[in-house]
Amino acid sequence: MQRRKFLRNSLAVGISAAFGTTLSGCGPPSTEPQSPVSYRAGEPLPWINWAGNQSCTPSSRVSPRSEDELISALKSAKSVVRAVGAGHSFSGVVPTNDTLISTDLLSGLVRHDPEKMQATLLAGTRMHDMGPILHAVGQAVPNMPDMDYPAIGGAIANSVHATGNSFGSMSSYVSGFKLATLAGELLECTAEKNPEFFHAGRTSIGALGIMSEITLQNQASFNLTEVNKVEKLGDVLDDIEARCKAHRHFEFFPIPYASNCLTVATDIAQPGDVSVGGDDPKAVNTLRTVFDAVSWVPLVGEELYDKILSTALAGDAETIRTGSSFQVFPHVRVVRFREMEYTVPAEFGPACVREIMSTIKDKNLPITFPLEYRYVKADDIWLSMFEGQDGCSISVHQFGDLDYKTPFAEIEPIFWKYAGRPHWGKIHTLDAKRLAALYPRHWQDFHRVRNELDPRGKLMNDHLKEIFGS
Ligand SMILES: Cc1cc2nc3c(=O)[nH]c(=O)nc-3n(C[C@H](O)[C@H](O)[C@H](O)COP(=O)(O)OP(=O)(O)OC[C@H]3O[C@@H](n4cnc5c(N)ncnc54)[C@H](O)[C@@H]3O)c2cc1C
Repeated sequence: MQRRKFLRNSLAVGISAAFGTTLSGCGPPSTEPQSPVSYRAGEPLPWINWAGNQSCTPSSRVSPRSEDELISALKSAKSVVRAVGAGHSFSGVVPTNDTLISTDLLSGLVRHDPEKMQATLLAGTRMHDMGPILHAVGQAVPNMPDMDYPAIGGAIANSVHATGNSFGSMSSYVSGFKLATLAGELLECTAEKNPEFFHAGRTSIGALGIMSEITLQNQASFNLTEVNKVEKLGDVLDDIEARCKAHRHFEFFPIPYASNCLTVATDIAQPGDVSVGGDDPKAVNTLRTVFDAVSWVPLVGEELYDKILSTALAGDAETIRTGSSFQVFPHVRVVRFREMEYTVPAEFGPACVREIMSTIKDKNLPITFPLEYRYVKADDIWLSMFEGQDGCSISVHQFGDLDYKTPFAEIEPIFWKYAGRPHWGKIHTLDAKRLAALYPRHWQDFHRVRNELDPRGKLMNDHLKEIFGS
């Protein structure tokens, strides 16, 4: 969410109006998580993910600069070896206390094909570098998540997605990749060559080997215009199908304890479109400050919060961002948070989000960070959250310095009720048995391929053992 200046400016006005005073000395609290580990001189350097909830102390950290170096790093790993891209996963997919292989130096364009509109990039290329690189050769990925920090390899491994019911996840745009294996091979994988590795490897959670390069099916560069509005949550949910049909991309951010939500509609830019206003990446802190300031008021606290928000947001104009697709899709994320996300079958989305919102309110859960609601088109990738079904992805966030486990534990069963599949890179508590039931078509196929490529389980860290049951 973090879209709008409105919150910082107009909520201050709203609070003043409600209390006849300003909240001096009541600025947004720190959202920096406490570091889970500290460095001790003479000991291996700890690794910590972006969110600060995963860490490890690898005895060996390697950054290969070539495919030969990548293969040799994989082969020489003694115990558990894992790849790391940008460290932007919330789940424990990366940590290992043995060998951590960073793909940072495997970055850049390898080749491009203007006729097929395909481009091959090294797997460690960060998505914020990918946009300009592709733009320079007249290409763009059809859809991108709303932040561009991950490496392409890390994004593909977890089936990272954006929104748009005619658009699949990032993995669905992969037409081929090269996979470095523990056996020291470099396998070319496409729908025709090594097809089983291709189907398993487009969402592998890093369990098959390490991709060195990835070929993306792109389209010609294009411009987008994104319109952000404040609207009533009930109106949006009542009209959700029409909105999704009307726009190339549509998503919204329900605000806990409030009747308003933020909507984001993105379409191909039209001549004359101009940007109006801009992002405020810290706006979520203001929501928290206001909630903390008024929610304690006996009997009416939550009502007051909703009223303040409604008043403050009522006169707020639209925020519009227009430009190249790779500049419009992503937003800046500076406020630390932890996230749980499940994808439920698309038709269950509205009921699921309504139940989450009412549960937060009824159980008084300490969640003020807005949720996120998106649609993704079905694909045929074995372990993709969108395999065989159009999906509605619903995210719940908690500030980085607050307990997330207790409120997430209250909400997670709602996702189970709607047959949700968890995002591989986000927080969830499902084990192999329950995950297998969510992927009836290809769970066994994936593990057959995984056992073939990693018979000794060298790519299995504790988290992967839990989710894959080996
Ligand atoms: C602020 C923020 C916003 C986010 N927004 C979104 C969003 O809009 N949509 C969404 O879907 N997710 C989102 N996420 C989740 C996140 O983007 C994903 O979990 C993503 O996979 C992280 O990419 P990474 O490069 O950081 O990978 P890492 O977290 O470093 O690694 C992820 C997995 O990929 C494996 N891996 C890495 N490189 C390779 C390789 N070359 N070959 C094989 N395996 C590899 C790792 O071993 C690991 O299993 C967000 C996360 C954050 C922190």
